[in-house]
Amino acid sequence: MPATRGSLSSGDNVARAMGVPLFDIRFDEGDREAVDRVLRSGWLTMGPRTEEFEEQFAAHLGVRHAVAVSSGTAALHLAFLAAGIGPGDEVIVPAITFVATANAVRYCGGSPVLADVGGQHDFGIEVADVERRISSRTKAVCAVHYGGYAAPIEELVEFCGERGIVLVEDAAHSPSATAPGSSRKLGGWGLAGAFSFFSNKVLSCGEGGLLATNDDSVAAFARSCRSHAMTSGTWDRHRGHAQTYDVVGLGFNYRIDEIRSALLSRRLPGIEADIEKRRRLVGIYREELSRISGVGFPYSDTDVSRSSCYIMPITVNEPSVRDRLRSVMRDRFGVQTSVLYPSIANFSAYSGTQVGSLAHSDLAARTQLTLPLFPHMSGAQQQAVIDALRHGLEATRGGEGENSFLQSN
Ligand SMILES: *Cc1c(COP(=O)(O)O)cnc(C)c1O
Repeated sequence: MPATRGSLSSGDNVARAMGVPLFDIRFDEGDREAVDRVLRSGWLTMGPRTEEFEEQFAAHLGVRHAVAVSSGTAALHLAFLAAGIGPGDEVIVPAITFVATANAVRYCGGSPVLADVGGQHDFGIEVADVERRISSRTKAVCAVHYGGYAAPIEELVEFCGERGIVLVEDAAHSPSATAPGSSRKLGGWGLAGAFSFFSNKVLSCGEGGLLATNDDSVAAFARSCRSHAMTSGTWDRHRGHAQTYDVVGLGFNYRIDEIRSALLSRRLPGIEADIEKRRRLVGIYREELSRISGVGFPYSDTDVSRSSCYIMPITVNEPSVRDRLRSVMRDRFGVQTSVLYPSIANFSAYSGTQVGSLAHSDLAARTQLTLPLFPHMSGAQQQAVIDALRHGLEATRGGEGENSFLQSN
């Protein structure tokens, strides 16, 4: 049975207004208590809760340092600055990623160089294409672990190491995920890894991010620059650890607050269980989708077992049906989908940045769609998505378009 088209039946929950939203988030009493404790403490900005969360996250990831910041974008910016990116420098990034990956290079005055992704089976950056795009100005490569699936990280570590190029990881999708043949978590392989705690991410608090690193000087740099390169913070001064401060560089306000740190601390221990639920749902999707002609999905079942399963990406065999399929799924069945991602090469602000072919990225951008996925998704919701996809594909094949559906509504 198709999901009923949404009205705001569950009070003020905006995400549930759709029949099946792309993403949904739930907080429990413990989350609310964690936030309430901060409010009652009277100390709102970066302080003991943030320190506690950083220690917890560093231990969870298996890295020496975790520096919490205001967003994943801020973490990327600090990572590229720490890598020494400045005017004239090039950083190779995949064309299929959130625009923040490339924007953060530009914040430093550097130039993002778009590289292709692996293909319809793999949306991670392709090492052979990275190699083709190396120039005398290449200073870093950024690996994005698309959807929580490892980019070819071991190869990239070796590739960059041999050439004296810095490797940065955009780990916004991939907390707790690992690479093939290793138990080492993603985000801890490069000079620095950037995580995002944006509301729809695997670990979320609304807005927030974190830079992970094993390098002491990168960590010190990030700690300093997240708060205007001041030699002491308000929490230090509050505790009497410092009377005054010096400003030793050009920093930013990339601080996180205690409310969000407390929420992240409270939620971090639960993410393994959440990811297990995501993997189970992805397994069901993959099994069901394998019986539907006209669609495919990237990665293998073993890749799923190592992934954080941030999203459920699929591809349509015929690019021309993609947008109509999405409209039918939304309008007729109330199922929300998304495209992760349009190719960065096609954004106005990036026009002229494409050099040579980005064939796999172009195809991915034209054929990819993302299905609803969240840990507490019910069997009925998932079945509604699969039914909507099946019927939507039939409708687009039969030439039956949005109009006839709209009329039948
Ligand atoms: C979400 C995201 C970011 C940016 O994180 P924010 O916390 O939203 O700033 C960067 N890269 C990728 C791949 C993302 O998905």
